[in-house]
Amino acid sequence: MSFFGEKCARCGAKTRHEVDGKATCVACDNEMQLLVEAKGEDLHLCPVDGATMSKEIAHMIVVDRCPTCQGVWLDGGELERLKGGVEASALMAMASGFTVPFG
Ligand SMILES: [Zn+2]
Ligand SMILES: [Zn+2]
Repeated sequence: MSFFGEKCARCGAKTRHEVDGKATCVACDNEMQLLVEAKGEDLHLCPVDGATMSKEIAHMIVVDRCPTCQGVWLDGGELERLKGGVEASALMAMASGFTVPFG
């Protein structure tokens, strides 16, 4: 690792943080830990088409994404976290990927 740090293997940000010998920025490290925790949770089925959704991290919260309709779903606790601290811009970015079962 150089004195000036290296590029995060995940997002390319400059960092001196390392995980398993790979340059990984602190934000990515945190996200990966969240993802590891999330993998231990039950997988949810898409309410729209019944496909098994995969866990993804978006803006430091765990979401379930449907591979079929690309819908994004939040667990209750995750929604609380969103309300608690994520900027509106992040919420808007999430909302653009939402499948909203209105009507
Ligand atoms: Zn990173
Ligand atoms: Zn779906």
